[in-house]
Amino acid sequence: MAYITFHGAAGTVTGSCHLLQLKDRQLLLDCGQFQGPWEIEQLNYKSLGFDPKEIDGVILSHGHLDHCGRIPVLVEQGFSGRIYCTHPTKDIARLILLDSAYVLKEEFMWKQRKLTRAGVQVKNPLYSMENVYYSLDFFNKTMNYGESVELSKDSRLMFHTKDAGHILGSAQVYVDYAGPDGEKRRLLYTGDIGDGDRPIVNNPDAPEANPAIHALVIESTYGDREHKSYEDSVVEFEEAVASAMKKNGTVLIPTFALERTQEILYHLGNMKKSGRLAKDIPVFLNSPLAIDITRLYTKHCNFCQKDIMNEIKDKRSPFVFPGIRITETAEESMAINSLPGPKIILAGSGMMTGGRIKHHLKHMLWKDSTTLIIVGFQAEGTLGRKIIDGADTVKIFGETIAVRADIYTINGFSAHAGRRHLIAFAKAASPKNVFIVHGEPKSSSDLAENIGKALPNTRIFEPKMGEKFEI
Ligand SMILES: [Zn+2]
Repeated sequence: MAYITFHGAAGTVTGSCHLLQLKDRQLLLDCGQFQGPWEIEQLNYKSLGFDPKEIDGVILSHGHLDHCGRIPVLVEQGFSGRIYCTHPTKDIARLILLDSAYVLKEEFMWKQRKLTRAGVQVKNPLYSMENVYYSLDFFNKTMNYGESVELSKDSRLMFHTKDAGHILGSAQVYVDYAGPDGEKRRLLYTGDIGDGDRPIVNNPDAPEANPAIHALVIESTYGDREHKSYEDSVVEFEEAVASAMKKNGTVLIPTFALERTQEILYHLGNMKKSGRLAKDIPVFLNSPLAIDITRLYTKHCNFCQKDIMNEIKDKRSPFVFPGIRITETAEESMAINSLPGPKIILAGSGMMTGGRIKHHLKHMLWKDSTTLIIVGFQAEGTLGRKIIDGADTVKIFGETIAVRADIYTINGFSAHAGRRHLIAFAKAASPKNVFIVHGEPKSSSDLAENIGKALPNTRIFEPKMGEKFEI
């Protein structure tokens, strides 16, 4: 008998962690951190729901925190198996986990200062830098797409990955195992799947349904809606930059360090090449994490689209163009505030909750000459959300700052497939069973309904946290 149990991203978007119990092996598909509102983040401190000592391996689909962020917890609690992932995912997960440990430590110290005086006991951070460094020793099997890995000879248990087209190195995972009568069965886990037609990563590979797919575990972030088209979003972005340049002002772009930063650099580079943006306008890449991640795109360029790979191999990186300024230190970052415009600044964090973007906002959000271009999702309760919701003033570092900048919100840069692509993917996979994960309840149930219409003979499940199914 084979089973799957859902220990995260079940009825919610974050915390992906699915346990496969196969004949002689127990495997996790991802081990991600819960992120978002307080009640969701508290789930990180609860029991994982299984004994980490009994897990033989983790197959990691990609390096986003909501897919790899509980690995240090797993290791701390006794996991001693292997972690499998693509070559870029290992390097990305290392940077993302170290950055997260740093943020957790900062938050802990801040809370300790504030709350200890009020007699409140502050919980230790979920994990430390040391936990992360120790966990990295378990990332001992990395691979290319299509490379088969044998997990157990006795039970003919194998897996391989294909390109998910979501971020650099992101993978769909195919696990081949023996059914109850020894017949070949296949499980396909999409991880997070891209929308296609992006400038850097490839389109997602079509599902490989030979042998037939017995179980499909599919994400549903955008299960109930479509994005604005990517091309239209690029046009909107370029128009926003162009109108800011006419004002000779500063363009602030709060960026997510992974994939979005590189896409924005790619588009700014194109504007410069074609003369739509003057070559001497400085573009500051002002986020240590984004700088390190951008270097990984060069290291792992064979995981990018062919023309990007060739450009990088020919030393014509799309991320390096006239006027690009790599801003490593905090002092250099502060100095940008006093430079005259026009200038363009890319800085984290993407939702403006921390990082270097905050001091730029403090210095520039109140100026008419500033343009703020928002290129990513802004969660409820974040500074970014307050600004797009039209606040006249915001608090930054305890100071009231007027919002006078021009604000542009561009919605079509998402790295997730929209509804139409998710349904088409499920249809092409044509599985016996579908498990819908990684979505808010409405997104998941809409997708369930639509896949049901497209595949009337398929059994469809929307698993709850901790729910176990035979596969
Ligand atoms: Zn992701």
